[in-house]
Amino acid sequence: MKHIAFIGLGNMGGPMAANLVKAGHRVTGFDLSQTSREEAKAAGVTIAESAIDAVKDAEIVVTMLPAGKHVRAVWGELVPAMKKGTLLVDCSTVDVESARAVHALAERAGLAALDAPVSGGTGGAKGATLTFMVGGTDAAFAAGKPILEAMGKKIVHCGGAGAGQAAKICNNMILGISMVAVSEAFVLAEKLGLSHQALYDVASTSSGQCWSLTSYCPVPGPVPASPANNAYKPGFAANLMLKDMKLSQEAAAAAGANTPLGAAATQLYSLLAAWGQGGQDFSGVINLLRGKEGE
Ligand code: NAD
Repeated sequence: MKHIAFIGLGNMGGPMAANLVKAGHRVTGFDLSQTSREEAKAAGVTIAESAIDAVKDAEIVVTMLPAGKHVRAVWGELVPAMKKGTLLVDCSTVDVESARAVHALAERAGLAALDAPVSGGTGGAKGATLTFMVGGTDAAFAAGKPILEAMGKKIVHCGGAGAGQAAKICNNMILGISMVAVSEAFVLAEKLGLSHQALYDVASTSSGQCWSLTSYCPVPGPVPASPANNAYKPGFAANLMLKDMKLSQEAAAAAGANTPLGAAATQLYSLLAAWGQGGQDFSGVINLLRGKEGE
């Protein structure tokens, strides 16, 4: 049993902290939101008066916060309050630069750190089936792996500081682009008089096969569980996809990588959000291509 502090008990962090409790750990948590604090308390998390109070005796500190600026601010405040030997694990999705900056902050204080963003969404957080993409030293990974296993089913050590965030945004850039590609193909099929099912039956067993087609098919029918069958209710909201696409483009600009399709797809999700559909599933991008809202 470990004493774990958990900062950021929102849609993802709340159920993740609850799974650490279920695995037998002592979890002390903090969140700025009273609702999040109350929900976590009901799941067995001891709520501290402040983030500093939560971390001061912890062996492992997990953060699950909205974006890089929050992680930089929270780690900046907490690192000086942590005891020697504490391991810091940030599970938020943030820019690679912020991930590397907070690793450096921990290193200067003599603390081990991991960036460990997740995929699998709120369903994965509740069911402890998340995939963790982890960056950090071998020793830090070995120390953090057991608690990640209590919250997820696949834990991949991707490399040194920031490698977890790099893997996350590269993967999501593929996803964002492939959903646009699949959507364009269905829109073209519609104009050519080809049925959705016929295109699906061919492409899902041909070279056009991909996750956007076979798991999140952007038209209703062929994949009954896809958000298109549920009025494009997320799923994975377009606003969250836009956040990850923007992170990929910031990283590409900083590293000098050419990602023209990533840039084009980012613009499309940005238009979808401006169209008032940012809360819809990202597969709703097909309706933007059609120029009309889905039925
Ligand atoms: P959320 O907004 O539900 O939760 C974030 C929580 O952080 C909120 O409860 C907020 O009050 C708290 N918070 C913000 N600043 C704080 C501070 N200074 N101190 C303490 N608490 C603070 O967001 P979420 O959906 O849980 O997402 C968290 C992270 O996980 C994001 O980086 C997101 O991109 C990533 N992520 C989300 C999903 C998803 O499906 N929701 C999937 C994969 C990754």
